[in-house]
Amino acid sequence: MLNTVNSKTSEEYFDVVIIGCGVSGSTLGSYLAKAGLSVLAIEKESFPRYHVGESLTGMVGTILAELGLEAEMSQHQFVPKGGVKVLGKGAKSEFFVPVLRPTWQVRREEFDQILLDKAIELGVEHRYGKVKEVLTEGDRVVGVKYIPRGEDKTIKTVRAKVVADASGQSTFLSRQKIAGRRRNYDTFKKQVAVFTQFKGAIRDPGAMGDNTFLFHSQLYHWAWFIPVSPDTVSVGIVVPTSKMAECGGKKETLEWGLENINPDLKRRVENLPYETVRTNSNYSYSVDPFVGNGWLCVGDAHRFCDPIFSFGVSLGMIEAKQASIAITKALSDNNYTEHFQEYVTFCNRGQDAAQDLILYFWQYPTFFGYQAKSTLRKDIVHLLGGDIHQVEDFPAMKMMRKALNKKELVTSA
Ligand code: FAD
Repeated sequence: MLNTVNSKTSEEYFDVVIIGCGVSGSTLGSYLAKAGLSVLAIEKESFPRYHVGESLTGMVGTILAELGLEAEMSQHQFVPKGGVKVLGKGAKSEFFVPVLRPTWQVRREEFDQILLDKAIELGVEHRYGKVKEVLTEGDRVVGVKYIPRGEDKTIKTVRAKVVADASGQSTFLSRQKIAGRRRNYDTFKKQVAVFTQFKGAIRDPGAMGDNTFLFHSQLYHWAWFIPVSPDTVSVGIVVPTSKMAECGGKKETLEWGLENINPDLKRRVENLPYETVRTNSNYSYSVDPFVGNGWLCVGDAHRFCDPIFSFGVSLGMIEAKQASIAITKALSDNNYTEHFQEYVTFCNRGQDAAQDLILYFWQYPTFFGYQAKSTLRKDIVHLLGGDIHQVEDFPAMKMMRKALNKKELVTSA
């Protein structure tokens, strides 16, 4: 369907307006455009832009194949990911989980641009601008107002049958009080990540050198080492915010982590210069409800729980595909409630599974490593591969939930 313009008011009409063109927004746009809907996607940052989150699951590989992007991924010389190696305290224990399907580690500035270009190629109308406000009629969301980028700063009004919030950590619809209140995870809310990139870090010989490495020491203290190009490795230190306060700053926290989290990490980057040091904190939260009359949220716009197993991009892209199905069905039979509720059930299954895997890992890190090598290996390969929306099928998940003795989301205001 084509978008239209009201010549008297200059208001435009689209089937769907998407707020944000990160991985969730662009993937949603692609699937909706493939389904023949008119889509406007608005992004406030100039692309290409830096973004954390470089290690992708096998399920992302599946979606990239569906969107016809495998060749493009190879052309960009992203690092093919064979799996994840997890090293415990003092590098005394380790386990390796291979990827479920071929996938990559990426420089997000390039990866997000590829996804956006694909969405545009498939017919999404993309504009730079900042969405400021939501249009409502009664309890129904009917569009947005945004300020375009460039000379013309006049506020533009766009009406749509569905507004999709893919604004990431901005959680736009929650802040507008359309979606539910943003609530932090009790367990992970006081975490901070400090990260940078190194050139010339020591990687393992052969294909193993292309994998994601995770290092952990005491509870909630861990680090990532993710090769993102033939010569560049992304390194991040994740610790409670109290540790950062003790260290005295982001650079000091990075250096503390490189020195103390794991000797194997230290030897890989010792005495090497590093690039800009960035931080991110308070990134574990959940928004409920995240669908409503004429609107829904996708990816980080409604929930994210600790990056240790690299589920973020995967959850965002899988939810985007599912949201496109819900929206397409809702527009065809006008039964928004039923199809959006199916979408909620689907998202909660995946997000709850991600959360429980992470909680279980931190409760029983050594045992998790043992199980990943033996009794639960097959299931853990699937689960860490991002195949977490059908968890009923996995005995490992049942066992972990039983051990945790709870299934509910642990949140507080
Ligand atoms: P985003 O990618 O954040 O995109 C949201 C977009 O919306 C942005 O471009 C923003 O500019 C735009 N926007 C916001 N507000 C507005 C507005 N008002 N108007 C217009 N545009 C707007 N995931 C992995 O898969 N692997 C990893 O290794 C990994 N590591 C991580 C490490 C850390 C420390 C953290 C915090 C996260 C990590 N993640 C990782 C998670 C991953 O980064 C996110 O889950 C993922 O980027 C979410 O994608 P998204 O499209 O939902 O949001």
